[in-house]
Amino acid sequence: MSLKSTTIGVLGLQGSFVRHIAMLDKLGVQTKQIRYPNEIDNCDGLILPGGESTTISKLLDEMKLRERIQKYNRPMFGTCAGAILLSNNSDDPLVHTLNRVPINTQRNAYGRQVESFIASVDLSFDKKPFNAVFIRAPKLLQPGKEVTVLGTINGEIVFVQYENILLSTFHPELTDDPRIHSYFIKQLIRK
Ligand code: GLN
Repeated sequence: MSLKSTTIGVLGLQGSFVRHIAMLDKLGVQTKQIRYPNEIDNCDGLILPGGESTTISKLLDEMKLRERIQKYNRPMFGTCAGAILLSNNSDDPLVHTLNRVPINTQRNAYGRQVESFIASVDLSFDKKPFNAVFIRAPKLLQPGKEVTVLGTINGEIVFVQYENILLSTFHPELTDDPRIHSYFIKQLIRK
């Protein structure tokens, strides 16, 4: 599959979807902002951006996207709030998760004082760490044994893969470093 014929859908209901689209543009990948269920069909993969997971959870129902994404079998990447939504379970009952990854998420897990920070993520697939932006980030807890850890800060899990789904608790679209999006495209979409 050539890059030009690859189209990645970016869920565009709320949150940081514009920056994901800009990053994919930079990599030469076509994108489609997803708001309606039938828009997902022609995409080779789907990104669920960061934002407010309780709001996105509600909008998924309003826009009738929940079932589509629950059944979507192509690669997906959930960043921050997107990771909360794709997890099996969040600590907040206001978020109705999509139950796609056997892992638990704890919202706003770094507390108020350090709601946002930049940290160096150690990657399993690259020697050079990734300088990552964390904004009111969740924690990824109790991963199932089929979950592969791809990134950590001080030994804490912040980036994982389960089958053809990636979750990161940080915002890779907010830096100029394309390595996380490249990993998604090269390892999951074009493999
Ligand atoms: N705190 C947000 C939530 O729980 C996530 C923040 C983000 O996506 N940057 O939904």
